[in-house]
Order: sequence, then structure tokens, then C-alpha cells
Amino acid sequence: MFDVVRISAFKDNYIWLLRKGGSAVVVDPGDAGPVLEVLKREGLALGAILVTHHHQDHQGGIAALLEHSRAEVFGPAAESITGLSRPLGGGETVRPASLGIEFEVIAVPGHTSGHLAYLAAGHLFCGDTLFTGGCGRIFEGTPAQMFDSLSRLAALPDETQVFCAHEYTESNLRFALAVEPDNQPLRDRVAEVAACRSRGAATVPATLALEKATNPFLRCSEPAVRAAAKRQGALSDEPVEVFAALRAWKNSF
Ligand code: ZN
Ligand code: FE
Repeated sequence: MFDVVRISAFKDNYIWLLRKGGSAVVVDPGDAGPVLEVLKREGLALGAILVTHHHQDHQGGIAALLEHSRAEVFGPAAESITGLSRPLGGGETVRPASLGIEFEVIAVPGHTSGHLAYLAAGHLFCGDTLFTGGCGRIFEGTPAQMFDSLSRLAALPDETQVFCAHEYTESNLRFALAVEPDNQPLRDRVAEVAACRSRGAATVPATLALEKATNPFLRCSEPAVRAAAKRQGALSDEPVEVFAALRAWKNSF
């Protein structure tokens, strides 16, 4: 197995570093500085970079990391990624040579058109698609694409750990509570997350089971969520329409 190291970057980004022995793989290095610090401090060699999508806060550090290593760069073939050496479309299994860990690559378009998620031993690195308590904005895809992508992720085993790329849980849950004020697991989570944040701790990762119980974007078939979406102008009870109405509501929440 491997260890996962959480590296904070910018205001609220997380860069995930996987380490096994002396080798490391890093996911979405928006900034090289904090990654180089960890590599140096822990005496690790960077063997691979996994990129979920093209936004700068996820790939801005690649060029500087490649000056210090010969890491392979895995990322979406459909997007412009610095130093991309292993273009992917989703559906592949990749095994960065350095680490000897297998990653399943999952296409999750919506936030961007080529967005990928990486799954290794129950650890899901999903960038800006599924967030703890919420989901990413739809910049390049359609609500239907994003809904399909989230459904694909929601179908993974309950114990899957969701490693998203931002610390957005607290504000996401404020919205979730507006959707489902009577959801008790959600209310419990809000209290836990508030306590966690007040001592400066991270709320990521979280299990998929918790997401399915509290994240409104994964609960589009629930009567309470459907009713809330209806009040916001959802066109029908179809889960995808419920999702589209929720996403639009959240954009202006
Ligand atoms: Zn993004
Ligand atoms: Fe981002």
C-alpha cells in the first residue's frame, strides 16, 4: 500500500502526494513550491504526475516540477496539459513505473470536457468533479454530462475515500442544508465540519457513504431534494433535471 500526504496550496487547494518507499506520485500540482518542499523533506523521488483537468490551480506547478525530476505526466488527452507524456481518455488502467500502484482512470466530463478521476485501492482522486458536500461548477460540459459523471463516481463502493482538490466542505454544506434542512446525517456532518474547521483541520477526504447520505448532488432521487429543486424551477422529477436545478441554484447561492 501507499501513504497519502495532504499538501495545501493557494487559498484552499489540496495537492495529494502518494508515497511508497522512496517514490512519490503527485495529483494536480497547481503549485510546485509546497510539493518540492515535501519531496526534499521526506527524501522522495517524484516518478509521476497525475492531472485531472487543465485549470491552472491543478497544473500550474508541472513545469517547475519537471525541472527537478523526470516524472511522467498523465492527464486528459482532450485538454492542454503541460508536459503531457501519457495522454488518457478514461477507461484505462495505468501503473506509473516508479510507484507500482495501479490507477483506474475514469472519464468524468462536466467541470471541463476532458476531466478525469483516478482510483487506486479505494482512494478516489476526483479533482473538481465531486467535492465533499458538493460538486464542481459546470464550465465546459452540460448538466447531463456532469450528472452522469457524478453517478459513475457514486456507483463506487461506499468505503471509497473521496480526495477532492479543494477545501470547500463547509460552504458546500451550507447549501446542502438549504436543500435538505431535515436531513439528520447532514446536520450531524455540519456540526462536525464546523468543529473541524474551527481548529484549522482538513475535512477531506470523506467516505462515499457519507457523501451519499449528505451531498445533495448525489441525492437527486430523494423526495426532499426533488421537492426543493421543484421550488427552484426544476422542469421535472427526472434526477438529471433535479440536478440541473440544484446546480443552477448553487451558482447563485
Ligand atoms: Zn477546476
Ligand atoms: Fe480547482
